[in-house]
Amino acid sequence: MDLLEEKVSSVKERLKAEFLADSRPWVVTFSGGKDSTAVLHLTIEMLLEMKKEGTPQNKKLYVVSSDTGVEMPLIEDYVADKLDQIRNFAKKEHLDIEVTKLSPKVTESFWTLLIGKGYPSPNQTFRWCTDRMKIRPATYFLKKLTDQNRSILMLLGVRSDESASRAASIEKRNDNHRGFSMHPDIPNAFVYSPIKDWSNAEVWTFLSTHPAPWGRHDDMMQLYDKGSGEGDCNIALNPQSQSCGKTRFGCWVCTVVSQDKSMANMLKNPEDMWMQPLHEFRNLLEVYRNDPSKRQPRRRNGQKSIGPFKLSTRKELLEKLLSTERDLHKELAGKTLISDEEIVQIQEEWLNDGDFFESAIKIAKKYGRDVAYNSVKAFNEDEQEFISALCEQNGINKELIDYLMQCEHSYRHHTIRYKVFQEFETIIERFAKGQLNEV
Ligand code: SF4
Repeated sequence: MDLLEEKVSSVKERLKAEFLADSRPWVVTFSGGKDSTAVLHLTIEMLLEMKKEGTPQNKKLYVVSSDTGVEMPLIEDYVADKLDQIRNFAKKEHLDIEVTKLSPKVTESFWTLLIGKGYPSPNQTFRWCTDRMKIRPATYFLKKLTDQNRSILMLLGVRSDESASRAASIEKRNDNHRGFSMHPDIPNAFVYSPIKDWSNAEVWTFLSTHPAPWGRHDDMMQLYDKGSGEGDCNIALNPQSQSCGKTRFGCWVCTVVSQDKSMANMLKNPEDMWMQPLHEFRNLLEVYRNDPSKRQPRRRNGQKSIGPFKLSTRKELLEKLLSTERDLHKELAGKTLISDEEIVQIQEEWLNDGDFFESAIKIAKKYGRDVAYNSVKAFNEDEQEFISALCEQNGINKELIDYLMQCEHSYRHHTIRYKVFQEFETIIERFAKGQLNEV
């Protein structure tokens, strides 16, 4: 037996012994990348061997995957397909496996925070996305599972060979006598890395010489071939990950990396070129982030400093996103870039910023998205019509009135309000010069 085969059988033996040693459920965190695929593959093979020997499966295996809602479409399709294959395989083989996809709450999704609240596109210094979109949904799920079962064991695909910092973090872990370490944030959740001493080459050799129990691995290899990065963005479920910014399979909107190399590499393939508009949108997010004219001159706490995206910028971004979605209608094959729930939530956020005309819902409609929305705070249809008619009768631009109302609304908590008149003058002046979008 060669060295790799020895490692494979020793990992499976060890997994089996640990699996049977107690009743705590196991959770394999699956990102679709090679390392988590290898761990899942080994774990499922171990279950199959137990079944063959007639050893009953004494507890459930959870396979959990993260879906941020802004995954690169090719990766989203790939992971969804794998999860279906695993689900079907488990059913066919009567294995007690539950497959779950974890997503952020609509109030914490990428579009709600960026377009709704105006958070600037994330970067290394303000990387608000990972926690909201990945860590929180995973922590919520894992905590609940731990509470229900008193304890769980998470199997991760981390390896010392990945990087010096990964090796240091593995080394620093305080493993117990079974090789498990405590999860840093979830009491009674333990973490185990069965392939921590495997090399990159060993993982690839294993995957290319052992067919996946549920189907195939060659489609994953093709995906890796299309890009040329290293790790995968599995921080979602992985307490040891430092960052998912420098990833290969990250979100298509990711501005944490200065250049989205994986997308750039994929765009070299004729069959993936259709994603070019997504790449352009992502680049626009980076440009807008660094353009003070697209940002408010104050933070939300009133501090004078570069603040969130202006409402006008957010409207522009929603328009561009929806027009990109409409242009890619055929390629997206029924999928959307932003959900109805997110559009409704964006509208809620905009109402707080003084958008009384339900612009998000109207912009969505313009691009063919008929979003059901029960207005509670905005002007009702009659009031909106009345204001529109009044503007028309008096030859006043409704957009100008909208801007003035937003401005007035932004001062609602201020005790000293004289500056509102100065801002009114600026708005009217910019309007007269045709520069309203710069307000
Ligand atoms: S891939 Fe980029 S955008 Fe997505 S969560 Fe990670 S850092 Fe944020």
